[in-house]
Amino acid sequence: MKKCCNMCISDNIVWEFIKDNGEKTLGNCDFNASHKNVSIIDPQKLQGLFEPIFKWYKVDNKNGLLFNKGLSIFSSKIFDNSKLISAIFPDGRYSFFLENRISFDKNKYKKEHKLKGYPEKLWYKFCKEVKNKYRFFADIDIEFDKTFDICKRPIYAGEIFFRARFNMAGKIFSKEKMGKPPRQSSENYRANVKGIPVLYLSSTRETAALEIQSYKGAILNIAEFIVEEDLNIVDLARDSTLFKSILPFKLGEDYGTYIFYRTFLCDIVFKLFIPINKDNRDIDYLPCQIISEKIKKLGYDGLGFLGINGYNLVLFKDNKVRLTRNSLYTVDDLSVIINEKDSIEYNS
Ligand SMILES: [Zn+2]
Repeated sequence: MKKCCNMCISDNIVWEFIKDNGEKTLGNCDFNASHKNVSIIDPQKLQGLFEPIFKWYKVDNKNGLLFNKGLSIFSSKIFDNSKLISAIFPDGRYSFFLENRISFDKNKYKKEHKLKGYPEKLWYKFCKEVKNKYRFFADIDIEFDKTFDICKRPIYAGEIFFRARFNMAGKIFSKEKMGKPPRQSSENYRANVKGIPVLYLSSTRETAALEIQSYKGAILNIAEFIVEEDLNIVDLARDSTLFKSILPFKLGEDYGTYIFYRTFLCDIVFKLFIPINKDNRDIDYLPCQIISEKIKKLGYDGLGFLGINGYNLVLFKDNKVRLTRNSLYTVDDLSVIINEKDSIEYNS
């Protein structure tokens, strides 16, 4: 029986699996002559790791990708020798990976999960529904629970975050004034609606200052918050490159959900990132506000997002953080980076 090794597959999860479930003694790999004296395993024992990923792929010679040519399920070339696939699945169920182009079978996912929409159009359909059709009772065919579960992460006790407010009077505000706004004075914003306040925090003082559109010469009150109890948040502070780098073996059974909703997640991230025109903000913020409320309803403590100035954290409740310091700052300089978008030259 041929054996493969931990060096054949460059993924930590598979690496650990081979160490724990492979042969007790080190040996030589049958798939690459340079892999000597390594942890080896019967390739068929890897079926359970590959099946949740491979099962979503179909032959697609028109639009698909070759298995070994930067296929989107793998962030790097995983196999030194694609014959390994036949060794993992000797019944030949994935032999088509070797001679064909393949792509994610979104119809299979839709059928198994009883969904209607196509993944590329989910954000567009979602926005149309909540902006122009049903706002409070929208019919949205999206598995929010599964989608956000992929993006969850803890923020551990002890981490520090910041909140800034203008304070031109120059006398340090009370703690109450720097906490979560009271219901009656909360405004419509990116992740909350009027009447339902949240606590917006930033990862640095500078980000907090820029988030409130500070200007040179302004006096700011900046409060420091410590996380007192671990937070469970949905982290949407990723760009599309980071989404692509999520490792398939780590996702396991969630892999199909991740690929199906990846475009939708990237669209949310983008909408949370870009500034919105003030004139349209009541309607343009709506989709993000609903996303935020979905996350709250699912029981998370908050959500993380990347604003134009850095990392921000929205907390639905303020009971797991404590304000520890309140300081006054003057804004002495604002760095500006500009990129030319268009221009007209005049020669006379
Ligand atoms: Zn090997």
